[in-house]
Formats: sequence, structure tokens, C-alpha cells
Amino acid sequence: MTDIILLGPPGAGKGTQARRLVEERGMVQLSTGDMLREARTSGTEMGRKVAEVMDKGHLVTDEIVIGLIRERIAAGGAGAGFIFDGFPRTLAQADALGALMDETGRAIDHVIEMAVDDEVLVERVSGRSTCATCGEVYHDRTRPIPGDGRCVNCGGTTFTRRGDDNADSLRVRLLAYYKQTSPLVGYYYAKGLLRRVDGLAAIADVAAAVAAILDGAADGPAAAETEAAGA
Ligand code: AMP
Repeated sequence: MTDIILLGPPGAGKGTQARRLVEERGMVQLSTGDMLREARTSGTEMGRKVAEVMDKGHLVTDEIVIGLIRERIAAGGAGAGFIFDGFPRTLAQADALGALMDETGRAIDHVIEMAVDDEVLVERVSGRSTCATCGEVYHDRTRPIPGDGRCVNCGGTTFTRRGDDNADSLRVRLLAYYKQTSPLVGYYYAKGLLRRVDGLAAIADVAAAVAAILDGAADGPAAAETEAAGA
């Protein structure tokens, strides 16, 4: 059983890689973004508040997201391991996750940082759409929806665009990432868990780099990369 965190700014490809790992390895994706999008359609007071915060591109409170993750971990059903996607996003969330994992006798094996160039992100996120049936991700320019209007993966014909996937919201979300989430890179480096992949490589190449980490073929890459970056 391998539990991992995918870390990176919005649009880095965390969801795409998570879905591949679910399909190819039977891991279980825990995306707080997906859970919150579900909560906002619930019609509850909590859902309404969450919607407001998400639309502005700000972070939902630690209490809410930690509560959601606690429920999912406690429910079990981890398959071949959990993929934390979009969580933790603050140091408080990282500490809470550590405690939850301890309580349940689990441990994070790898924190995979998906490194990307900010300018590329804005373009990537702006043209993004998703198959409503299976979650396959498309992009207006780099991976358009097929001419027959059918998803290549499941044949679905309904595609959705996230309300927060626009350039203005992305800039706010990027700022939230740098202010609140990027300290986690140092946090997990210090814990010896950080691995880094090039999030701008082709999807299959990113998947191969992630697979090498999970299969133990890429030992201590964070340290190696740090040396290379400093050289
Ligand atoms: P995502 O799908 O991961 O890009 O998340 C979409 C939005 O949900 C974010 O911009 C936040 O408003 C909210 N969100 C998702 N995960 C978290 C989290 N771990 N902590 C706080 N807010 C979150």
C-alpha cells in the first residue's frame, strides 16, 4: 500500500495524473476540490459558503477540508493506496494529515511536487474542460474534444468547464498557492518525502516519472534535483 500527495499549483496536472493512477494501479483519489464541488451542490448553508469562497479563488477553511478528509480516511477503502490531490494546502492541513495518518496506522510514502512554469499555467487552465461522465480532461488548444463530440475514454457527450477556470480566478488561486501552499515543499523536503517531476512534460512522460517514484526506481530525486538546481 502506497499513500502519496500530489503537490503543485492549479493546472499542474495533479487531477490528470491521479486519474491515471486510479485506473492503472487501483489507487484511490481523494480530491478536496472534487469533494467541495460536490458539497456546493448540496444546497446547504455550508455548501453556499464554500461556493462563495471557491468562486473567488480563495482557500476554504482548514476545519472544513480537514473534516472532509478525516471522514474519507476513516471510511477506509484505500485500494492500493490514497492519492491526496489538492490536499494539504496549508501547514495546518499538513500537520492534521500527519496526525490522521498516525491515528490510522498509515504513512505518506511520497510527496510528488509537479513543477510548472506560471505563465504556461494561465494558458493551460483557461482552455480546460472535463468529461462530465468520467472526468477525462480536454483543452481547447492542446487536446480538443473530438469532432464527433464524444469522450475518447467513455463516449460521454457532456463536457463541463469549471466556474473557477478563468485567468482572473487563476491568478488569485496562484497567489493562494504561493502564500499558503508552497511552504509545504520545504516542509516535506525536511521530512525526506519530497520528490519532484517536470509537470510540463507530456502527460505520458509525467506518468512515467511518477511511476518510477512509486516503483522505487527513482531514489531520492528531490535531493538530486536540488543539487542540479544549485549547480
Ligand atoms: P482544486 O480542484 O484542487 O483546484 O480546488 C478548487 C478550489 O477548492 C480551490 O481553489 C479552493 O477554493 C478549494 N479547495 C480545494 N482543496 C482545498 C484545500 N485543501 N484547502 C482549502 N481549499 C481547498
